[in-house]
Amino acid sequence: MRDLIIAIDGYSSCGKSTMAKSVAKLLGYIYIDSGAMYRAVTLYCIRYGIIKNSNVNIELLKQNLNTIDIRFLQNNLTNESETWLNGENVEDEIRKQEVASCVSIVSKIPEVRKKLVSIQRKIGENKKIVMDGRDIGTVVFPEADLKIFMTANQIIRAERRLLEMNEKGMQITINEVVENIKLRDNIDESRVISPLRKADDAIVLDNSNMTREEQLDWVMQKINQIEP
Ligand code: C5P
Repeated sequence: MRDLIIAIDGYSSCGKSTMAKSVAKLLGYIYIDSGAMYRAVTLYCIRYGIIKNSNVNIELLKQNLNTIDIRFLQNNLTNESETWLNGENVEDEIRKQEVASCVSIVSKIPEVRKKLVSIQRKIGENKKIVMDGRDIGTVVFPEADLKIFMTANQIIRAERRLLEMNEKGMQITINEVVENIKLRDNIDESRVISPLRKADDAIVLDNSNMTREEQLDWVMQKINQIEP
């Protein structure tokens, strides 16, 4: 099979990362979690007081953008790729609610998107990549070989997310998770630049009632149908 670019977009907490990771593993491809990059910039903004009470100091952010270095490094114990921000492993930190609650505000900023999209395209230069996010099929790789748009019932998504957060020892209520998912979906879909939307040539995967195995089979079938 020729080298591919696989774009997986969709709503918050749909299981995009889990799916993308599994597909990448099966194909021996690189997996990139573009959401982690937006989360890392958001963490930086929180730490340096660039975002306060949901207000972003755009000028300060612009001055600091060049000093934000984001990398994905392999954890040799877990074999998982982890997010590093300016030399620090922030994989756990970026998953916290404090970051989740303002990441969509930071993601709306054109300068942030420009910087991250350019890094994402660079990583995908040699293909053999599975990337998940909100604008991968529409903006980052409009020429991707396979575009999947994932969706699922909002309550089911919230329940899955809650389970994931509880497993990590994070205390949060189902209502807080539902509200965060609704808010993020809403901001992501309505922003002016690169809004979350299905690319015209993307295939929809509604995984509300599907197991992980069924989803993976579904995606692998689509990959096998790609013309050599
Ligand atoms: O995928 P994840 O839920 O971790 O993404 C966090 C947030 O990052 C999203 O809610 C969205 O605001 C932003 N994002 C984005 N474009 C991407 C990936 C994520 O705007 N390609």
